[in-house]
Amino acid sequence: MRITHRIGGKAWTGIAQRTGDVYDPATGQVGGQVDFASASDVDEAVTAAREAFSRWRHASLTQRANVMFAFRELLNARKSDLAEIITAEHGKVLSDAAGEIQRALEAVEFACGIPQLLKGGFSENASTKVDVYSIQQPLGVVGVISPFNFPAMVPLWFVPNAIACGNAVVLKPSEKDPSAANFLAELLAEAGLPDGVFNVVHGDKEAVDRILEHPEVKAVSFVGSTPIARYVYETATRNGKRVQALGGAKNHMVVLPDADLDLAADAAVSAGFGSAGERCMAISVVVAVDPVGDELVGKISERIAGLQVGDGRRPGCEMGPLVTGAHRDRVRSYLDAGRSAGAKLVVDGRGQSIDGDDAGFWLGPTLFDHVDVDMSIYTDEIFGPVLSVVRVPSYDAAVDLVNANPYGNGTAIFTNDGGAARRYQNEIEVGMVGVNVAIPVPVSYYSFGGWKDSLFGDSHAYGPHGVHFFTRAKVVTSRWLDPSHGGVNLGFPQNS
Ligand code: NAD
Repeated sequence: MRITHRIGGKAWTGIAQRTGDVYDPATGQVGGQVDFASASDVDEAVTAAREAFSRWRHASLTQRANVMFAFRELLNARKSDLAEIITAEHGKVLSDAAGEIQRALEAVEFACGIPQLLKGGFSENASTKVDVYSIQQPLGVVGVISPFNFPAMVPLWFVPNAIACGNAVVLKPSEKDPSAANFLAELLAEAGLPDGVFNVVHGDKEAVDRILEHPEVKAVSFVGSTPIARYVYETATRNGKRVQALGGAKNHMVVLPDADLDLAADAAVSAGFGSAGERCMAISVVVAVDPVGDELVGKISERIAGLQVGDGRRPGCEMGPLVTGAHRDRVRSYLDAGRSAGAKLVVDGRGQSIDGDDAGFWLGPTLFDHVDVDMSIYTDEIFGPVLSVVRVPSYDAAVDLVNANPYGNGTAIFTNDGGAARRYQNEIEVGMVGVNVAIPVPVSYYSFGGWKDSLFGDSHAYGPHGVHFFTRAKVVTSRWLDPSHGGVNLGFPQNS
């Protein structure tokens, strides 16, 4: 199967100079070939978007909202088709793919309220017979560059708000699971979005670099690993663009001695191994505050033993394969690295029985105990089913540990002490905090974003920050001719 760009509302008909293999991770077989855009292919998409923008920016708020409502209905009606596409290329189990789409739908629903969201302020008689009002206008062509791990949800963190605000979009999805983006493009067209307002170019660094430097691209929303996020932020801001670049994570879950340890163990296993740990909000470190370590590790191990790993299309499978063979090998290398560094390998994911094809990119859930902060299993974002337990003597030591980590995406505290939880949400240097909630992804009417090395830029994704990011503010001061105007005055305007 060939997967190609969608430019100006149509499948691209050119010949790609480079292509990439797209795998089915549960079988290890190549399922398709994706075209890689050259710089001139990106230029073609930006030109289509620029032309479409010149009309779309004048579309009424009602028209823009109606497209979003229609898109929401189509996405909801076709969500099982999209889930199958995601599972076939990403590997996450079907129920998890469905959950991703549900959160994406919420982001679309938020954008349906665009007439309300773009209301400006108005001050009558700010000065005598002078009115002042603010308006928010679209930026133009905006670029969205997304990672492999949420091929539908992450693009839809940005695309609905960008379009509803009146912009035109060029999306460059991950080359590892590119088909979901094309499916979204087809649904948007069916929803009545004019050709060229939403374009998809596939590819790798070459396509990204052209988006980052193209003078007609006014803003870039990026999600991916921290080194690339930093590069995107520095390059695109140097080229004069507005940028939000969301990076990687190492999310800690602190378990205090008074916590419900069954609840905490359920949460650690769900948040550590859901989607095979390939979530930027996955819990990768459990911080066990003395004396809960032994009991908590025991409860987590028991639960891991009951997990069913296998092909996400087979009933009963809870955790699928990793996205590629190369990524699986990289994640697996941490098992030996952790053990040689002195951590205790409590559950070894290499020994797990699998309900799937032998050639799939499998690695079972893995648990390390007695992990130290200088070990690579602690310092690196592994992005796989590897959970580390670090033991600390006190609440204060837990806070110091989390705050010393360079990442600041998500964190959770498990406790029955409201005062401790309140202190934690106040003291912790992390953008999204859960209290007895392991994966605190904000609902669509708040905004999503980490701190420190997990986000470069000032704006978080979606919600109110999204509307702010995709618009420019303008303030109009107006006076209509009136017999009382005062003639020439070279002084700085003063209000009276
Ligand atoms: P990645 O950084 O490898 O790729 C992200 C995007 O950048 C892709 O579209 C890719 O084609 C492109 N890219 C890759 N290398 C590039 C280069 N050298 N120059 C320019 N562009 C390049 O990330 P990934 O492996 O696809 O996704 C996993 C990462 O994304 C993890 O680090 C995860 O934590 C992070 N992530 C973060 C969030 C968040 O909200 N903070 C959400 C999801 C994923």
